[in-house]
Amino acid sequence: MAAQNSTIPFAKMKIVGITGGIGSGKSKVMEFFAAKGYPCYSADAAGRRLLSEDQKVISTVIAAFGPAVVSPKMPLDRKKLAELVFKDKAQLQRLNAIIHPAVAEDFKAFLAQHKDAELVFKEAAILIESGSYTQCDVVLLVVSPKATRLARVQQRDAVSESAVLRRMQNQWEDEKKIPYADVVLENTDWPTTEAQLEQLLTQLTTT
Ligand code: ATP
Repeated sequence: MAAQNSTIPFAKMKIVGITGGIGSGKSKVMEFFAAKGYPCYSADAAGRRLLSEDQKVISTVIAAFGPAVVSPKMPLDRKKLAELVFKDKAQLQRLNAIIHPAVAEDFKAFLAQHKDAELVFKEAAILIESGSYTQCDVVLLVVSPKATRLARVQQRDAVSESAVLRRMQNQWEDEKKIPYADVVLENTDWPTTEAQLEQLLTQLTTT
């Protein structure tokens, strides 16, 4: 279960964390809430943005990883960095140790911008693994069969099955995440998912 949120300074606000394995449909679920007008934050997109725009993050990463992640055209080559960290867990942890605190700061700024909102949604692939689920009032875990997830991501990103499997290896299995979730949402047939999300939204706005 998510810890009761004591670190967020805006008393009225409820933070809903959305997580799930690669291809489970986290982004699609968050788009549902965004379309309803709720403030939505993607930790993964924020990480990518900070890596390409935030000078402090860029220089810290270059200092940590050296010439292997620098290319003649750009100071920090995100493709080289991704190749490096996805085949080496220790390097991934090193990168996460730089990115996670920067994303946490960025999220605080986002919350401050939406301080009057009653509901805010935050999507993160490793919300539970990273421990940041403790800052959410509600943890929503999106699950789908592995074969479905594999097919979705292969189609979405035009990548090989082995590339998706490699990315899956850095995430916990759903069974390990379920005890941390307040709501487990099976996302296979989208109209069914949408109906469940409507119900969940009613609960979130009336309790
Ligand atoms: P990642 O971890 O890679 O960010 P994700 O969990 O955010 O993945 P999405 O990008 O939301 O997953 O979904 C993966 C792909 O599957 C997308 O192209 C999305 O449109 C599609 N998709 C998600 N849910 C469904 C569904 N119920 N029916 C059909 N397609 C779906």
